[in-house]
Order: sequence, then structure tokens, then C-alpha cells
Amino acid sequence: MSTITAYKCNNCGHVNYPRHERCLNCKERDFKEIKPTKKGKLLTYTIVNELPWGIDERGRVIGVVEFDNGIRAMGVVKADKLKLGMKLTSDWEEVRFQNGEVVYGLTFR
Ligand SMILES: [Zn+2]
Repeated sequence: MSTITAYKCNNCGHVNYPRHERCLNCKERDFKEIKPTKKGKLLTYTIVNELPWGIDERGRVIGVVEFDNGIRAMGVVKADKLKLGMKLTSDWEEVRFQNGEVVYGLTFR
């Protein structure tokens, strides 16, 4: 399973994602690479009805999820009922078809 990498500051512990040259919290440059855990909670979401070409759906829920280890990432939420703070499990799978190629991304359910 391919997935994202986040950068945890060795000085203050702040999790930076995506990568920044300096820690957003304390400006240090020393990081440790970490991977998202499998589970997280839904922080916020938006429902996108006008989807770009290549997505064969009526509407799509894009959510921001905070993983158990502090990484925050955006992905497609596949759940019938949406509630802020709900627990979600992440996957890495096909999210759209673009220029003849399958594009993979984070999904949560
Ligand atoms: Zn820091």
C-alpha cells in the first residue's frame, strides 16, 4: 500500500504535512518521517457536486481527517452518514480516471 508521508518535528513534535522546509510551529529543520495510522477522525468535510471530468459520481464528499498520530490529510469520504468527529478507516485506492490513467488517492470509510 502506497500512502502519504508526513514530517514530525524533532524539536517540538508538530506534525507537518505536506513537507515544509522549516517546522510551521517552531522553525526547526529537523524532521522524522512518519506514516498515517489506519484510523482517524473526521475534522471537516465538504460535498462537491460539480466534479471534474473523469469522476463518475453525482456528488463526492471531500473530508479532512486527523489520524491518530496527528497527521491531517484530505481524501474522499465514503460513508452514508456524516458526522464531525466520526471514526474512519483509511485506504489508498482508485479515486478517478485521468488522461487514460487511474489516479489513486486517500479514501475514508
Ligand atoms: Zn517544531
